[in-house]
Amino acid sequence: MENLAKRFFIRLSENPWLNHAAKKWGTHLAGRFIAGTDLPSVIETIKEMNRKGYHCTADHLGEFVRNRKEADQATNEILNLLESVSIHQLDCHVSVKLSQLGLDIGYDVCLENMKKILAIAEEYGIFVNIDMEDYSRFHPTINILKRLRKQYAGVGTVIQSYLHCAEKALSELEDVRVRIVKGAYRENANVAFQSDEEIYHNFLKLAKKRLSSPAFTSIATHDHRIIRELTAFIQANKIPSERFDFQFLYGFREDLQKELLKEGYRITIYLPYGHEWFGYYMRRLAERPQNIQLLMKEMFYTEENRLKKGPVISGVVALSAFILYRKKRKKGNNP
Ligand SMILES: Cc1cc2nc3c(=O)[nH]c(=O)nc-3n(C[C@H](O)[C@H](O)[C@H](O)COP(=O)(O)OP(=O)(O)OC[C@H]3O[C@@H](n4cnc5c(N)ncnc54)[C@H](O)[C@@H]3O)c2cc1C
Repeated sequence: MENLAKRFFIRLSENPWLNHAAKKWGTHLAGRFIAGTDLPSVIETIKEMNRKGYHCTADHLGEFVRNRKEADQATNEILNLLESVSIHQLDCHVSVKLSQLGLDIGYDVCLENMKKILAIAEEYGIFVNIDMEDYSRFHPTINILKRLRKQYAGVGTVIQSYLHCAEKALSELEDVRVRIVKGAYRENANVAFQSDEEIYHNFLKLAKKRLSSPAFTSIATHDHRIIRELTAFIQANKIPSERFDFQFLYGFREDLQKELLKEGYRITIYLPYGHEWFGYYMRRLAERPQNIQLLMKEMFYTEENRLKKGPVISGVVALSAFILYRKKRKKGNNP
């Protein structure tokens, strides 16, 4: 049942039409997990998170880029983000997705856009992380990363512990800053572990290996079992604090974020922003269908836990219209 729900939400996340339509429904639907709709609002969120002691990474949402113009627009958005982070002197790096920068249109388009981004990021001293997407983009992403690393040091990527090739890939990125995650896409058994237990154990194996090396490692998970096993490992092996951080998605497990911050760990919050929230949000539902309760709460309740009138009235009107329509059709069918 859980797997069925997972497949259902991942399918929705991959649908460009729904992504487009969701843009029109408005970001308020996913508000709890989106750090802002535009640049000024995400800048305010970063300031607030920095004040509380969190480091940040900002991600301008968007995946379904179909032409050069859209890829260039996405690149400009990221350049504006870098400039704002620098002007406001924020503690925030940037996360990007290569599909947004034109990877599916052409390798060279994407490489060119990444070079523009890294040239400015280097000038401002801001790190850029390349998020990892589905397996069809894994090898091109690693390839582009390796090309970029010849010219720029401030760029890293993500390794998904569900991939069979994760350990090998990690060993080839010894001097690169890497974020370790479980993996958010639907992959088949040829390339990825399918069971939670295998993914969990591989995550721990990769993270311990990396933490024992001098490179910087980000542990990005909401799984308290992994986090607690790794904090014990870090303490037992006296891993220096400047070598790693724990990363969380904005709005998730705030209790655990605070707890770790109090214990003195470096915590980075991943802040997605913009109007293209649908794919991101559906992947969060696939991971944890319970998140749908939070979505419902967001849609129907105010912050003071009062029912919002607008969506309820629209719901009642839509339901009444549907019942009337059904009745009319039944009459029509039985003259
Ligand atoms: C900062 C960050 C960046 C990421 N970047 C990428 C990327 O570039 N590419 C990619 O493929 N994926 C990325 N991911 C997503 C990742 O791959 C996983 O899909 C996602 O994090 C869910 O897996 P998990 O390890 O957090 O724990 P899960 O497998 O979702 O949860 C494990 C257990 O933790 C507990 N738990 C989890 N969430 C909660 C909650 N909200 N409340 C209470 N208990 C909870 C439950 O007991 C659950 O059974 C990223 C994740 C993070 C945090």
